[in-house]
Amino acid sequence: MWVTTHVLSGLALAALLSAAGWPWWAILLVVVLAHVLMDLVPHWDYTVSRHPLAFSVVDFLASLLLFLAVWLALDWPFWLALMGLVSGSPDWDVVVAELRGGDARKVFPSHWKSFPHGRSGPVWGIGVQVAIMAASVVAVLAAGP
Ligand SMILES: [Zn+2]
Repeated sequence: MWVTTHVLSGLALAALLSAAGWPWWAILLVVVLAHVLMDLVPHWDYTVSRHPLAFSVVDFLASLLLFLAVWLALDWPFWLALMGLVSGSPDWDVVVAELRGGDARKVFPSHWKSFPHGRSGPVWGIGVQVAIMAASVVAVLAAGP
């Protein structure tokens, strides 16, 4: 999935679990595990598009802006805001592999060739990510500190 989708869902999980009193280390484990589970859901990745570099620059910048927005504008504690970036961070694996050449080996389990990575066409594949992002924004605003 897109980094932005992972970052927003990571922020939502962090908000919900932190409000429920979970410790930071358990939240960290959950947001990384969420990355693996979300990569199972059929989705559309821009790595198959004609402009993967442009999409990825926008995606990474949007992710950074979301982190800054919850940290500085919503005044979340730094560690809690960071959980969004932590959830998206395994996708650096994809960037590094692309830079090394399209078929380079990836490190994160849900990026391995043997992993049943979810794929779909753009209509479902973008729609499901927009739905996850919308639900995540609601959770961030409702449950955030
Ligand atoms: Zn991923």
